[in-house]
Amino acid sequence: MQETEKKGFFGSFGGSFIPPELQEAMDYLTEQFERYKDDPVFREELAYYYREYVGRENPLTFAKHLTDKLGGAKIYLKREDLNHTGSHKINNVLGQILLAKRMGARRVIAETGAGQHGVATATVCAMFGMECVIYMGEEDTRRQALNVFRMELLGAKVVPVSKGQGRLKDAVDEALNDLVANYRTTFYLLGSAVGPHPFPTMVKHFQSIISEESKQQILAREGRLPDAVIACVGGGSNAIGSFAHYIDEPSVRLIGVEPDQAPTLTEGVPGVIHGFKCLVLLDEEGEPRKTYSIAAGLDYPGIGPEHSHLKESGRAEYVTVTNEEVLEAFQELSRTEGIIPALESAHAVAYALKLAPTMEHDRILLINISGRGDKDVEQVFHMLNK
Ligand SMILES: *Cc1c(COP(=O)(O)O)cnc(C)c1O
Repeated sequence: MQETEKKGFFGSFGGSFIPPELQEAMDYLTEQFERYKDDPVFREELAYYYREYVGRENPLTFAKHLTDKLGGAKIYLKREDLNHTGSHKINNVLGQILLAKRMGARRVIAETGAGQHGVATATVCAMFGMECVIYMGEEDTRRQALNVFRMELLGAKVVPVSKGQGRLKDAVDEALNDLVANYRTTFYLLGSAVGPHPFPTMVKHFQSIISEESKQQILAREGRLPDAVIACVGGGSNAIGSFAHYIDEPSVRLIGVEPDQAPTLTEGVPGVIHGFKCLVLLDEEGEPRKTYSIAAGLDYPGIGPEHSHLKESGRAEYVTVTNEEVLEAFQELSRTEGIIPALESAHAVAYALKLAPTMEHDRILLINISGRGDKDVEQVFHMLNK
């Protein structure tokens, strides 16, 4: 491993910009992650739960009708929507909870905004009999009452945070305070490929199962690699997981898709946010800009450090789509293939709808369907009927 990678740097991005007492907790976590990640027993246990609990491997579905309709590249869908709990998030929370168990932690904490990561965390805590505390901005607990109930149903304790603005950022601060005080017995389970080292590296490690499978599947099916892989980008975990095994394959275009109202990679500048360096959207005062997305999972002003680096080095491309394009894609995939994608995933589909027709018939386009759209149906109903 290179020295830069060791400290969690990807080019000039990443690293760890946190107070010393928190650094102690991160050093401990890094050491434990390095110790177990390649351990054969650990790997076997993870593979067991991916198979028996998550339902992996999930299919790489050929989207025949969409392909025919667009008249260009062959479109394949990696079906993370079919995982238990309905998205790629389970890949990461499962990996981290197995690590927490190895480390002897009895208690797991996490923060959540819209509640999706909180629900995924509460799920694996229920499965492994771990005490689970989810910090959530008070404002968010009101807006996402049903997800609060889901977490409680799964046995988690949801702590509403009223400090500050009662939003995600304040919940993160509370969770970090808890961690500093309790890190020998408590595991902080982070939900995306962001945060101080080792989180971006660790989350990528667990999400890489997506491209590990898709690469084998496309080779078995088509006898060659895809020409492009497309994924939506919030913090960047499903995208980095679907890119990982293609990064060293220069023939494969890697394309990340963001909402045009949270264009971190297209308009961001280098800066430090939540303890790591990345491209970040700032306002006139130099504070993280307020972003908005119709897809709650993509509403984040920063972006994982490796994506920042992939953008700067030119290895990956990042593009934006509009809400209208996303809503159209949401309906188009539903109508043509009988698959209702998450609004987040519909961003990737939206760009594919534009790209596929420009490609030759013998080209292959792979879209990561990061999650299923059941959670978004009511919202889309109101948006379409207003
Ligand atoms: C949370 C979420 C995302 C965004 O998170 P990333 O870390 O960028 O992958 C995307 N899709 C779905 C379905 C999600 O739940």
